[in-house]
Amino acid sequence: MIIVFRPDATDKDIDAVVDQLKAIGMTPHLSRGVSRTICGAIGDERKLEEHPLDAFAGIERIIPILKPYKLASREFKKEDTIIDVGGVKIGGNTFTVMAGPCAVENQDQVFYLADYLVKQGIHIMRGGAFKPRSSPYAFQGLGVEGLKILAAARERTGLKIITEVLDVDDCDAVAEYADIMQIGARNMQNFSLLKRCGKYRKAVCLKRGMSATIQETLLAAEYILKEGNHDVMLCERGIKTFETYTRNTLDISAVPALKLESHLPVIVDPSHSAGMKELIPALSRASVAVGADGIIVEVHHQPEKALCDGHQALRPQDLEVVLREVKRVAAAMDRVVQ
Ligand code: PEP
Ligand code: MN
Repeated sequence: MIIVFRPDATDKDIDAVVDQLKAIGMTPHLSRGVSRTICGAIGDERKLEEHPLDAFAGIERIIPILKPYKLASREFKKEDTIIDVGGVKIGGNTFTVMAGPCAVENQDQVFYLADYLVKQGIHIMRGGAFKPRSSPYAFQGLGVEGLKILAAARERTGLKIITEVLDVDDCDAVAEYADIMQIGARNMQNFSLLKRCGKYRKAVCLKRGMSATIQETLLAAEYILKEGNHDVMLCERGIKTFETYTRNTLDISAVPALKLESHLPVIVDPSHSAGMKELIPALSRASVAVGADGIIVEVHHQPEKALCDGHQALRPQDLEVVLREVKRVAAAMDRVVQ
C-alpha cells in the first residue's frame, strides 16, 4: 500500500506513521519529494485493518495495492478452485447443471422431479426448505421436514442436494442433510451467517446480493474462506436495475469479472435473474459461453400449482431444451456438461 502525506505534514507526523508501520510488522519505504512525501508499506495489509492509520495526522490518502479480499483473490491462488461434492466436481472443465423446484412442497413432488433429473444425467438437485419470502403470509417452506424429504431423495437417487440456509440457527440442520449450503441473495452480507458457514467442511454456494458490487460479493466470500472453509462457489443471480421487464438484470459481465479476480467457481441462476421461463434457455446458453462453471435452474412438473416461483419454473420438457442447447455451446467451449 502507498501512503501519500499532505504537503504540510511535519517530520513528526511522518515519523509517527513510520513507527506505527514497523510496530505492526510492516516495512515502510519513504520517498521524500519536493512538495510531498510518500511511503510504500510492504507486508501483510490485513494488519492495517486491525490497526487502521485513519487517526494519524498528516495523511492525505492511502492507496491499497493488494485487493481487499485476499483468500478469494487470484493473487492468492492462481489456479481455479475445483470443489468436490461427494465425487461431483464443480469448476475446471465441467459445466454443472443444478436443477429442482424453488421450494420443497411434498415428498411426491421431490421424488418425481428427482427421478426425472437423474434420467437427464443431472447430479445435483436444488430445493428450498427454508424460503426467504417477501411476504410473511407467503409459503415459508417446510423447514426441517423439507430437508428430510431432500435427504430421502438423495437416498433414493444418489443426487447431491443444494438447499438454502436462512438463519444461523438452522446451520446444523442444513449441514446435516445437504451437500451444498446455499446462502441466498438477501443474506449475502449476513456476516454472522457467513462466518458460521465458514466453520463447516461443507461446500457453500454464495449468491450475489441483489444490490451488491463484485467487490462486496468477494468480501462476503472472504468471510467464509477466512473461517477455514475453502469450498465456496459464487452465484450471479441478477441485480436490481431500473429495468422492470425482467425480475432482475443478469449481470453477465460479473461472471468473467469474478473469474478474473477470483479462483472460486462461478455459477449463474438464470431463473431468479429473469423471473420468466421464456428467457432461461438464452441466459443458460450465455452462461456457458461467458465461462460460468454451471447453472442453478428452477424446474417444476406442475408450475401452475407451485407454491413458489411457478411463473419462472421450467417444465421438465423445457429443461430438456436447455440441456440440449447448453451441451452444444459447452462442446464449442471444451466443457463437459454434467
Ligand atoms: C433461491 O434460489 O431459492 C432464491 C431464493 O434465490 P435468491 O437468494 O437468489 O433470491
Ligand atoms: Mn425461487
